[in-house]
Amino acid sequence: NSHSTQNAPVDGNLLAAKSLARFGVSHMFGVVGIPVTSLANRAVSLGIRFIAFHNEQSAGYAASAYGYLTGKPGLLLTVSGPGCVHGLAGLSNAMANTWPLVMISGSCDQKDAGRGDFQELDQIEAVKPFSKFSIKVRSIEEIPNCVAQVLDIAVLGRPGGCYLDIPSDVLHQTVSESEAEDLILAAEKSRNKEPVEKVEGSEIAKAVSMLREAQRPLIVCGKGAAYAKAENELKKLVDTTGVPFLPTPMAKGLLPDTHELAATAARSLAIGKCDVALVVGARLNWLLHFGEAPKWSKDVKFILVDVNKEEIELRKPHLGLVGDAKLVLNMINKDIKDDPFCLGRSHPWVEAISKKAKENVAKMEAQLAKDVVPFNFLTPMRIIRDAIIGVGSPAPVLVSEGANTMDVGRAVLLQTEPRTRLDAGTWGTMGVGLGYCIAAAVAAPDRLVVAVEGDSGFGFSAMEVETLVRYQLAVVVIVFNNGGVYGGDRRTPEEITGPYKKDPAPTSFVPGAAYHTLIEAFGGKGYLVGTPDELKSALTESFSARKPAVINVTIDPYAGAESGRLQHKN
Ligand code: ADP
Repeated sequence: NSHSTQNAPVDGNLLAAKSLARFGVSHMFGVVGIPVTSLANRAVSLGIRFIAFHNEQSAGYAASAYGYLTGKPGLLLTVSGPGCVHGLAGLSNAMANTWPLVMISGSCDQKDAGRGDFQELDQIEAVKPFSKFSIKVRSIEEIPNCVAQVLDIAVLGRPGGCYLDIPSDVLHQTVSESEAEDLILAAEKSRNKEPVEKVEGSEIAKAVSMLREAQRPLIVCGKGAAYAKAENELKKLVDTTGVPFLPTPMAKGLLPDTHELAATAARSLAIGKCDVALVVGARLNWLLHFGEAPKWSKDVKFILVDVNKEEIELRKPHLGLVGDAKLVLNMINKDIKDDPFCLGRSHPWVEAISKKAKENVAKMEAQLAKDVVPFNFLTPMRIIRDAIIGVGSPAPVLVSEGANTMDVGRAVLLQTEPRTRLDAGTWGTMGVGLGYCIAAAVAAPDRLVVAVEGDSGFGFSAMEVETLVRYQLAVVVIVFNNGGVYGGDRRTPEEITGPYKKDPAPTSFVPGAAYHTLIEAFGGKGYLVGTPDELKSALTESFSARKPAVINVTIDPYAGAESGRLQHKN
């Protein structure tokens, strides 16, 4: 009867699950075990989808990508000690990419801490370098408020990773149902609302006049702009002013790669010659050559738009606008509306970029047109590009990792819709692929997910193909199999000496590995392909089936380059 349910005790696991559900969490990623299994089960019973992984590392990568794709914190649940340590991979990846993530870990009994308890670790200390905020719940009454705090802080200002520690004794404490309800309501009331940053109109006017007066203006957009869902504002700005734009890899698709003002295929010219660069939601870090000469002109004036004030202080741009990309671009568009300007197609700068882009595209197309067998990287990439374009809208989410596979893919594969590209990102994290696929498939269930991965990237988390099959996710994983990291043995004769010279090279895997049979072990579909026709037919079949599949593509082990395009760093 209602009286007895009213008084049914609520334990820490249930209270945490209730708080998550009430505060808007709809998905969780993780690995269960002592002491958090009941938390996961309770969450599912309250309508949260729990995606159970084999390894916390992959689950963490999934949670980070989920945060990016949805703008809501991705939830990662782990067990104590080693589970928490594995989860640090996801937490740190979220921080490096500035994506919102909340990691919740169970931890050992508070009274046994310091005595060598089961899976004991000072988890608060362990997460410190990898999180923007962390908190340990000391007793059950604190759970709802702590849950609210981590969820809020993860998305506040610059998004990032937060950590919540729940000791096993707290998970087993109880309160009455009415007490639980009061605690949740109180926490809900105290929730942090995003402060509205105020960008001064005069600053906006300054930015607009810099763009207006520039001889060679450029708009650079990054994954912060994609996260802010600023695509409509960006489109308006580019269309009305005629200023060329350059997306960073994950910002590809904010505007279609095929847009006539896209400077992607003329990147060196665009960044090398622009005199004013409006950089929106992108850091002037290694990916953008620190904004320095010789890649950039030494006289370039940067206008940086970033939600994070410290980022702007660090880079010391000519002009910094602290605020949300969507809001700031909207203000810029409004300011321009009163006195519009447009470069026009015959503007020498626009013409130069468009000419260079066309030349480079034509050069690439000439390479792509050849059917090279055994496969190099280009031939299968062209076939995959055409198959992805053939899907139409909603466009597939592309997941990409590997050295050569990611480099070649970035140049060849086309993004036509925002937030449809996930790759190794700011941290160059390899092994993210399967986790990202799973996150994309659950965050955007109307989209097909296509991963184009090197065999080494795939190998980091290949067991998660079972997860694909278990949840029947619409994910097709294409493995560029060249038998190792960078492919075949590329050592010089002087490097092949010593007592272990008969061992395979550190970069080598078993040649001809049958990766496609991994997924077959769980009832998924596997394909082994080595020719254009075989690849085309595998893509046609798997894309229309929208069922988990692995396509193992045999690539010439000596095609491609060591370290992809980062050879100077090796
Ligand atoms: P990319 O790798 O695409 O160059 P980065 O990850 O280096 O992009 O930079 C993303 C930037 O976007 C970060 O500095 C982050 O603070 C910022 N950012 C995050 N959210 C927003 C937002 N809503 N509006 C503006 N900038 C944002």
